[in-house]
Amino acid sequence: VQGLSGKNVAVLGLGRSGLSAALALVDGGATPICWDDNEAARVAAETHGLTCRDLKKQGAFDDVARLIVSPGIPHLYPAPNPVVSKALAAGVPVDNDIGLFFQSFATSDWNNFDITPQVVAVTGSNGKSTTSALIHHILEHVGRPCQLAGNIGRGVLDIDPPIDGEVVVLELSSYQTELARSLTPDIAVFTNLSPDHLDRHHGMGGYFAAKRRLFSEGGPDRAIVGVDEDEGRFLAGQLSEGPTDDRVMRISVEEKLTGPGWQVFARKGFLSEYRKGRQAASIDLRSVAGLPGAHNHQNACAAYAACRALGLAPKVIEAAFHTFGGLPHRSQTIAEAQGVRYVNDSKATNVDSAAKALQAFKRIRWICGGLQKEGGLEGLNAVSGEVLKAYVIGREAAQFAMQLDAETQVCTTMAEAVAAAIADAEAGDVVLLAPAAASFDQYDSFERRGEDFAAQVVARLSD
Ligand code: ADP
Repeated sequence: VQGLSGKNVAVLGLGRSGLSAALALVDGGATPICWDDNEAARVAAETHGLTCRDLKKQGAFDDVARLIVSPGIPHLYPAPNPVVSKALAAGVPVDNDIGLFFQSFATSDWNNFDITPQVVAVTGSNGKSTTSALIHHILEHVGRPCQLAGNIGRGVLDIDPPIDGEVVVLELSSYQTELARSLTPDIAVFTNLSPDHLDRHHGMGGYFAAKRRLFSEGGPDRAIVGVDEDEGRFLAGQLSEGPTDDRVMRISVEEKLTGPGWQVFARKGFLSEYRKGRQAASIDLRSVAGLPGAHNHQNACAAYAACRALGLAPKVIEAAFHTFGGLPHRSQTIAEAQGVRYVNDSKATNVDSAAKALQAFKRIRWICGGLQKEGGLEGLNAVSGEVLKAYVIGREAAQFAMQLDAETQVCTTMAEAVAAAIADAEAGDVVLLAPAAASFDQYDSFERRGEDFAAQVVARLSD
């Protein structure tokens, strides 16, 4: 971490990213002063030789050059965090690990040696992980050195020093883009926007503003923007110098984009690239097993555009699509038995992502429910035409079920829901876990929920 050597840097939150930031600060010659309200997290940090200090105490920021805040800690909404407020009152800049990463990247030695690693940063409401992993997969497929970090996999400060020609692919959540003081990717991707995490961003405007920060500071060399919502159209328009400016690549799964700029869209299962009004490529996505459904075609468009911006040829990108296995808990087929397919989309934690899953399959026995997010479930009823029946889980299952138009069965537990769905399922049906809700009422994480689903399916099928 450049520029903070010899200084004290406060680190708030000692989860994965906080710990990695603290250790990177030590490596860079700074002294991290750590805090987490959770005592066990402090004890764990101390076993790494880190020093803890209660940052809420009077004078805690007197000798501190910067405060690094973890993405899991709400800093302003729904209520200002007392430590963050204290730092700001003391005139101490507030930043996060992403800001430290870009600051280091901009000032590191490799820039002096004509070594040019590139950073591709991906944000958006849904599809970030899939898009980032797909870009990384395509780069690996062509043998280009690359690393994947951020909200997925490794912390940004845990990556290996990049080598010449390497591409660092970062998945960035709105929490991460909002606080980073430096955000200077070479290529920035905005997949889409739908309501999520609104409590922490004080509504949709704040949420969009957080994501948009990736495109400020003079902007990336290339901006890839999903234009299927008003916000994306606005962003693309604002970044463009004019209709032929191909610094902005527009992507869509709703519109045929054939203007004079550079654009990639998918319709009826075909991905098309147009540049300067001419078709540059066409790829049949219908046979790409790892990317089912229109939502994944949007991810394919975003990843394709990023790889084109990096100079890859359409044919190699197409070949790499076919070897993409998909990510766990996202449209992941976990079993097939007696003609019934079992799909784990536990990561569908909001209404929009679950709606996409409901549109990607036919004859659905739908396991849903959990901790409901703001905004209601209306968007789901509009797309539940293929739902044969919903099996509702979660502590508030009955209340969740009442909002659905489909035939419902209140199951509460995953075990009950899987048993009921299997009992009802006939050949050709898809048993789909796409909860449209967070998992925290019953699980530690969406991963645990998806694993429970898979375990229950396997247990029932082998009965
Ligand atoms: P993120 O990292 O943004 O949460 P993921 O790639 O992990 O995105 O996908 C999360 C969930 O959102 C998936 O389970 C799937 O149901 C849904 N999804 C994936 N891609 C998209 C997309 N482009 N648009 C809408 N929903 C999507």
